Amino acid sequence: MASATPVRVRFCPSPTGNPHVGLVRTALFNWAFARHNGGTMVFRIEDTDAARDSEESYEQLLDSMRWLGFDWDEGPEVGGPHAPYRQSQRMDIYKDVAQKLLDGGHAYHCYCTTEELDVRREAARAAGKPSGYDGKCRVVTPEQKAAYEAEGRPSIVRFRMPDEAITFTDLVRGELTFTPENVPDYGIVRANGAPLYTLVNPVDDALMEITHVLRGEDLLSSTPRQIALYKALIELGVAKEIPAFGHLPYVMGEGNKKLSKRDPQASLNLYRERGFLPEGLLNYLSLLGWSFSADQDIFSIDEMVAKFELADVNANPARFDLKKAESINADHIRRLDVKAFAEACAPWLRAPHANWAAEDFDPAAWAAIAPHAQTRVTVLSDITANVDFLFLKEPVEDEASWNKAMKEGSDALLRTAREKLGAADWSSPESLKNAVLAAGEEHGLKLGKAQAPVRVAVTGRTVGLPLFESLEILGRERTLARIDAALAKLAA
Ligand code: GLU
Ligand code: ZN
Repeated sequence: MASATPVRVRFCPSPTGNPHVGLVRTALFNWAFARHNGGTMVFRIEDTDAARDSEESYEQLLDSMRWLGFDWDEGPEVGGPHAPYRQSQRMDIYKDVAQKLLDGGHAYHCYCTTEELDVRREAARAAGKPSGYDGKCRVVTPEQKAAYEAEGRPSIVRFRMPDEAITFTDLVRGELTFTPENVPDYGIVRANGAPLYTLVNPVDDALMEITHVLRGEDLLSSTPRQIALYKALIELGVAKEIPAFGHLPYVMGEGNKKLSKRDPQASLNLYRERGFLPEGLLNYLSLLGWSFSADQDIFSIDEMVAKFELADVNANPARFDLKKAESINADHIRRLDVKAFAEACAPWLRAPHANWAAEDFDPAAWAAIAPHAQTRVTVLSDITANVDFLFLKEPVEDEASWNKAMKEGSDALLRTAREKLGAADWSSPESLKNAVLAAGEEHGLKLGKAQAPVRVAVTGRTVGLPLFESLEILGRERTLARIDAALAKLAA
């Protein structure tokens, strides 16, 4: 379904800190839009802030993108016609464009000090006037300029905003108008010569021929500035066309506050460590501002790509709901074939996630229990507590579970159960169930009550996978030995 002009989108994070879910949602919407339209996904690294950017964070970004399953047509490691794709390697380009903007009268040197700006801002506020930059340095006479320079005053480069309203049609929010008093002239190059986001982001969008800018609503206020800058770049022959802009709705976290990067719930690594599947997480994140259909919210990434239209992106804030994310992830776990599930769990079956020794892991037991576990875990990290009874020498000691299950008479029941389990046919869970059922009957207990002490004796926990399948996989000897150990503990 290719549209008339080739679609070129970009994902352009700054490598600061850990990737967060808001960033992943932005990457996802760009990627899905590109793939749906047979377009080009450009991955650009906005690392012009040496004080905040780190190589570690850059590596993490790439690793996260790969883990999520995103590919990109241009960018780090794959290259492309507009290389390099790391802004730290494009400084000459920005310097050149800044000079062109100065020469063309679209930008000027501003010599105002922070203190002077503060004083004027306060005065404007007190007078109830717009408090943004007042345009003082738009006109600086040669004499003034000489005086400033003799004083050794530093200057920044400011972009000159046109004195007219800027209107554009946001792909998500519809037509928006910004009046000049709300969009003052703004800095594009620091006093030390370092170009700012305000310059490098639209310059690269222009040079990389981006057609659609899809990003979070927090960046909406930079759009009128960028449109004005774009117009200047077109005049200078640097840009061809203003891209379309679409701003994705805010994501709200706890207490209906905007989910912040610093929110622990926002960290992508948290979801990886807990064992979300990439497809489960992306399915959930796609619903933050978009919907697949009125009656279906579980789908594959391919299904999402096939259906993804910007017209269906909603402008209303989206609520981040961890429970829903988990439940969607659980559905994706159920959708795996059992072999893929067993493989996906592999990292959790080893240290540091697993609390058993590597040599105690039994692949045959794992293969036998995996299908039972697959229908019960929400995130892959749940797996360790569900299967540790198979690989630990002794079941975990969980006092709360023990106290809950071991009541007066539990010893008598366990003795009977041990006897009947000892005599049972261990080739099917049915006969093990009948053994515990019969033991319960002797003590006037229904199956549920009778199996609780058996489960805690054998697995250490009150809840877990289907008990009789678990016993069968653990085996007769180990099961009986654990019941004996529990009886000894009860007698002590
Ligand atoms: N590097 C910017 C950020 O991380 C990109 C913003 C944009 O998409 O324009 O916020
Ligand atoms: Zn100034």
